[in-house]
Amino acid sequence: MNCFSNIFASRLFSTKVIKPKICIVGAGPAGFYAAQHLVKKLDNSEIDIFERLPVPFGLVRFGVAPDHPEVKNVIHTFSKTAQHPNVRFFGNINLGTDISLQDLKDNYHVVLLTYGAEENRQLNIPGEDLHNVIPARKIVGWYNGIPDDSNLEIDLSGNTMAIFGQGNVAVDVARILLTPVDELKKTDITQHALDKISQSKIKQVHLIGRRGPLQAAFTIKELREMLKLQQCQTVWKKEDFSSISKEIVENLARPKKRITELMLKSLQDQKSDVDGLNVFKPIFFRSPLEILGNKKVERVILGVNRLEGEDILKQHAVLTDRQEELECNIVVPSIGYKSVQADPLIPFDQKKGIIINNNSKVNTGLYTTGWLGTAPVGVILTTMSNAFGTAERILKDIHDDNLLNEDKGGFTNISSILKEKRVPIVDWAGWEKIDKYEIEEGKKHNKPREKIIDVNKMLEIGVS
Ligand SMILES: Cc1cc2nc3c(=O)[nH]c(=O)nc-3n(C[C@H](O)[C@H](O)[C@H](O)COP(=O)(O)OP(=O)(O)OC[C@H]3O[C@@H](n4cnc5c(N)ncnc54)[C@H](O)[C@@H]3O)c2cc1C
Repeated sequence: MNCFSNIFASRLFSTKVIKPKICIVGAGPAGFYAAQHLVKKLDNSEIDIFERLPVPFGLVRFGVAPDHPEVKNVIHTFSKTAQHPNVRFFGNINLGTDISLQDLKDNYHVVLLTYGAEENRQLNIPGEDLHNVIPARKIVGWYNGIPDDSNLEIDLSGNTMAIFGQGNVAVDVARILLTPVDELKKTDITQHALDKISQSKIKQVHLIGRRGPLQAAFTIKELREMLKLQQCQTVWKKEDFSSISKEIVENLARPKKRITELMLKSLQDQKSDVDGLNVFKPIFFRSPLEILGNKKVERVILGVNRLEGEDILKQHAVLTDRQEELECNIVVPSIGYKSVQADPLIPFDQKKGIIINNNSKVNTGLYTTGWLGTAPVGVILTTMSNAFGTAERILKDIHDDNLLNEDKGGFTNISSILKEKRVPIVDWAGWEKIDKYEIEEGKKHNKPREKIIDVNKMLEIGVS
């Protein structure tokens, strides 16, 4: 028995020990890592994970690129957690419509919100409503099987794509669109995306950032993949690197130094003849001002920026009066996300797009972690440490805030609410049936899985 179990074992109310009932909203990495830590430290507890979709894993299933299967291995750890006798998964339950925060607070000692950051930030420039301006996250959802994005109207009949933003998601989209179809065929990319990409005429992808190479957000692994991509040449603009002297590079911290050296080497090795090849073109010091076209994207007006600020890595972009035009057929904003206020009772910072919290705690018994609490930055590992920290805080507060002062109804009561509303539930066994079905379907096409994209089909298989 660990120290926390002792605390709870000693918490006797007349003759009864109160079992901690904890619910987690959102079955992405934040939710699973928090559950993993809590269940390890609490011998006797009920930890229920509620997920809006019938299927678990959040952005590990729906965000991570199909050609990065190794990243998805964390699913094995999440599945072990879900199979623990004290943990339950309830899919197809949406906080805000199927259940309210009050329902959860009434029935659990601790409510932990980890429902991520699904809304796209907008460029807020004229022309953003033209056909073929498509946020990166929608394209990711389309090739990764998010049910709402499966009918995405994307026109790949033009030659040029302009992506605004230089983070790893922007690079993912560029890479998937420029990867030879025979390579994509071996992944779990959705069939509808594969069919469309195999007809794609996109030959050239611009990756446009407001600041310079030293401030670029993509990481070295993603850049290396682009540099090695078959039938593709990365083309840099020499003038974008003119202010990066040898001395500057020498004095950079190691990760930044390595990626800058790689960019400079690639620039140096750059071939001028790109005939017959796809082209990946990172462009720096440019901001989108306007998207032009007759109903559909035809070109963008770019403002030329200069950088200001003492700290070379944190310099900010300032528009000059110079402008340029870039012809393109599809515009992809990839400039970040924000969360939404899923329930009116959630204290929410609309500007930052996160739940207002103090080191994960929102108010007594209510917590948040993952992208919903920290803002949508960082990778799965960052989310993991954040979730472990939040779980530790919850364990401490259970004691300090006397959260176990009365017994709670837990899922028994929640299931009555859901029954009344006729909400079908997919439990872990239901997910395993969906998983098996998808793997079997994938085998028919030599793919690791063929994801179901229709929620009704998921429910047909997963609801017992
Ligand atoms: C396109 C993309 C690619 C990425 N690729 C990588 C990568 O290769 N490697 C890496 O380390 N990191 C990657 N990341 C980052 C990583 O995915 C995040 O760090 C991590 O997923 C954040 O976890 P989370 O649990 O906070 O959010 P999420 O993963 O978004 O999980 C939130 C969950 O909550 C559910 N939900 C939403 N609303 C509700 C509601 N109202 N009620 C109930 N449930 C709800 C969602 O369906 C989802 O399952 C990527 C991110 C993106 C956007």
